[in-house]
Amino acid sequence: MIYLDHAATTAVHPQALKEMLPYFAGQYWNPSGNYQGGTENKKKLEQVRKDIADSLNAHPEEIFFTSGGTESDNWALTGLAEKSGGKGGHLITTQIEHHAILHTCQYLQDRGFEVTYLPINEMGVVEPEAVRRAIRPDTIGISVMYANNEIGTLQPVAEIGRIASRHQIPFHTDAVQGYAHLPIDVQKEHITLLSASAHKFGGPKGTGFLYIRQGLELPSFLHGGGQERGRRAGTENVPGIIGMGAAARICTGRQEENWHRIRRMRDYLLARILSGISGVRLNGSVGRRLPGNLNLCFEGVEAQSLIVMMEMKGIYIAGGSACTASEHGPSHVLTALGLSETEARSSVRLTLGEENTIEEMEEVYQQLAETVDELRELKEAGGNREEITL
Ligand SMILES: *Cc1c(COP(=O)(O)O)cnc(C)c1O
Repeated sequence: MIYLDHAATTAVHPQALKEMLPYFAGQYWNPSGNYQGGTENKKKLEQVRKDIADSLNAHPEEIFFTSGGTESDNWALTGLAEKSGGKGGHLITTQIEHHAILHTCQYLQDRGFEVTYLPINEMGVVEPEAVRRAIRPDTIGISVMYANNEIGTLQPVAEIGRIASRHQIPFHTDAVQGYAHLPIDVQKEHITLLSASAHKFGGPKGTGFLYIRQGLELPSFLHGGGQERGRRAGTENVPGIIGMGAAARICTGRQEENWHRIRRMRDYLLARILSGISGVRLNGSVGRRLPGNLNLCFEGVEAQSLIVMMEMKGIYIAGGSACTASEHGPSHVLTALGLSETEARSSVRLTLGEENTIEEMEEVYQQLAETVDELRELKEAGGNREEITL
């Protein structure tokens, strides 16, 4: 099997798994327990908090463990809304955010808030100037993702951060696709809130964190015990947090090396596809994107059929994002990029990870070329969609 869906999730790194395992049974103590085992586990969690803070140029007191990217995004936005009095106000975000942001914005709109959804340019990038123009006296927060999960485009976070900071508006970034893969500095980039999720960088699912800049009094999200300094109640997911810490350490440690190696493989695959298959287009900027991301439109090909046929050949690729797969409409990101519904439905996403090899890329190219040919021939022969999918 060749796995090319790392934007959806990654395998837990073997070393991270090894470090997690003792905490399920042997060292299962509650970190709030006032005996040695509890204190030791508490200490382990604080070490992870410090390591994660260091990786972002933040303070440990600014890192709050959560159940993942979705919770962190929900907390950031609903927290800003509640902090503003909860009775309305204006938020700025983009048309290409993950649904964890977009659906939270919709939730807030239903409760009287106004939201501006900024477009992207033809490169798939939000213009900082558009952010500046959207600011109103009642703007309570700005949320722009670090890197897009479908087309991989990197957003001008530092520039937007500077604008937000100048206007003293809290700036949140959904960095789920970027954290540990890219160097992020919350000071230099003027980030007030940042979401991350362990399973996107070699950690376990159901664990993540929210960075909350000191001084920003973001209300608590879960109410209960005094964990996470009273701001996110619930017994800590000790094995998960320890796995996340190990994965963050490993991924951050190999950041530069991985960036170059993954980009080389990606560029090899892209060059093979562009020269060997006709009617293909890359969606989004070539240069300004995550090293492992390809989002390609194959003219005259149904993405769903291509995905199914590639799977039969042992290659896992994706349509839009994993989270939109069940939602049937064309991808909101590709639509924002200006693709027609047909073009969006002819687009697939291939996301590489560190365990992929260049040999696999050659195999993926060969299978893609063959499958795209088959599907186009079937279509020309008048085959209907049911036949192709089966
Ligand atoms: C995966 C993802 C999320 C959701 O994170 P979970 O930990 O799966 O809840 C949010 N935003 C982006 C950009 C993502 O890629």
